[in-house]
Amino acid sequence: MSRVIGIDLGTTNSCVAVVDGGKPVVIPNTGGYKTSPSMFAISQDGKRLVGHLAKRQAVTNARNTVFASKRLIGRRFDSPELARAVDLFPYQIAEGPDGDARIVAADKTFSCSEIAGIILREMKRVAEEYLGEPISDAVITVPAYFNDTQRQSTKDAGKIAGLEVLRIINEPTAAALTYGLGHREEQKIAVYDLGGGTFDISVLDLADGVVEVMSTAGNTFLGGEDFDRRIVEHILEEFNKAEGIDLRDDLMALQRLKDAAEKAKCDLSSLNVTEINLPFIANDATGARHLNLELTRETLEDLVSDIVNQTMKSVEQCVSDAGMKAEDIDHVVLVGGQTRTPLVQQAVTRFFGKPPHRGVNPDEVVAVGAAIQGNLLTSGDRDLLLLDVTPLSLGIATFDGHFASLISRNTTVPVRKAHQFTTTRDDQSAVKIRVLQGESENADDNHLLGEFVLSDIPKAPKGEPEIEVAFDIDANGIVNVSASDVASGREQSITVKTTGTLSEDEIEQIIAENANVPFPGDS
Ligand code: ADP
Ligand code: MG
Repeated sequence: MSRVIGIDLGTTNSCVAVVDGGKPVVIPNTGGYKTSPSMFAISQDGKRLVGHLAKRQAVTNARNTVFASKRLIGRRFDSPELARAVDLFPYQIAEGPDGDARIVAADKTFSCSEIAGIILREMKRVAEEYLGEPISDAVITVPAYFNDTQRQSTKDAGKIAGLEVLRIINEPTAAALTYGLGHREEQKIAVYDLGGGTFDISVLDLADGVVEVMSTAGNTFLGGEDFDRRIVEHILEEFNKAEGIDLRDDLMALQRLKDAAEKAKCDLSSLNVTEINLPFIANDATGARHLNLELTRETLEDLVSDIVNQTMKSVEQCVSDAGMKAEDIDHVVLVGGQTRTPLVQQAVTRFFGKPPHRGVNPDEVVAVGAAIQGNLLTSGDRDLLLLDVTPLSLGIATFDGHFASLISRNTTVPVRKAHQFTTTRDDQSAVKIRVLQGESENADDNHLLGEFVLSDIPKAPKGEPEIEVAFDIDANGIVNVSASDVASGREQSITVKTTGTLSEDEIEQIIAENANVPFPGDS
């Protein structure tokens, strides 16, 4: 049997690992990099580029360079998060046939699963090159707070990449697996994961080789990109004040600004002050203008403190959902590049009353955990058992627009819950059910997973038919629905329309289209 790779498909960077000779190793690409930018581009001469190659040409080809597409996956084109952040994306976002967000590069529209598939395919290639053997199986991680649509879309991406996705696991849980391998003693840990685009917090109980997630919370639209954006806005304002020029409409200038902002942010993790220098950033009648600005750590902290506070609200909720207090947590593990910002570390230290654990590499720990899980699934090794939870409550919309929760958040998965439905009219032959995920009492405020129609109901007076609908959440956190007629025990026909994900046909079509597209290797 071939080996299973673990892939951390990050918003900003992706990383692949494998268990080799009993030990997890992070796989470098031929250039020696252990992570690759989660970027895709179509160059001016029509070449498809991925990873570092895509990143290197981003400034001169901003419109056709796709980054942070994970922020869009499984999301509706008209979602409020997207509306708030749309100016962040230099590439064009379009509406898919299902109302889903799609991405345009060089006049071609891609589904977000296809873009993620292209990045996964690159990670697969990196692993195959290193191991010298073909790879077909993978464990892929997602933010713990991803809903069903986002998980399904990620699974579709795996298929598009030519991978059998053995399991989707949560990023903080993967990090805890890596940590748990080296720390066998019983303890409670919190994993605080702040990456480029998403924030997750999980509380876990580690005991006797069982890694049990107690609770999880987070925000799938909050991360380092938002820090960068605050800095960019600050620079735009300062430049406008000093020079009377608005750089907002200049794509190339904006892309340079964004890069400079991120670099300044990273510098300020170890320095107290840094300089942003962008010569020839603009031109007007009087000639070339240069941008020269000093940024202090203090200013940065003022710009982003509310974002950090927002993460701490989720932390509070997560600890309380676990039925614990901050002082019950023995160790805090930091994951994600953005946790290198001192303000983030200070907020975490203050809340838990202890400094975070420093033993794991925040960039690699998730991929390593995915590889460990892949090995557990295939080696028959029962050394570690993983029990995860569903991050969001699952339920249905009632007639009056309320949300009736059937499986509450933080329930251990897999889980199955049955609910009985009946008709409200005589001889009614079909019943429509809307399935949602979220925490609001108001159905419309939650995320619509799909609509299910129970049909072919035998003629009967209203209220008499009893149709049992079972809602399953599997170990991937993915929802499945089935229905049966209680009286006859017969499987009830059910039409499932999951909004915003690809159909089997669409996936096949994308695979066929991509089969012959040349792809330069990354280095
Ligand atoms: P993802 O999981 O989303 O791919 P990563 O864990 O790779 O993200 O984190 C990427 C984010 O971390 C980016 O926003 C990046 O700017 C930020 N980051 C990386 N290094 C540092 C640093 N030294 N200081 C502050 N932020 C950093
Ligand atoms: Mg990450």
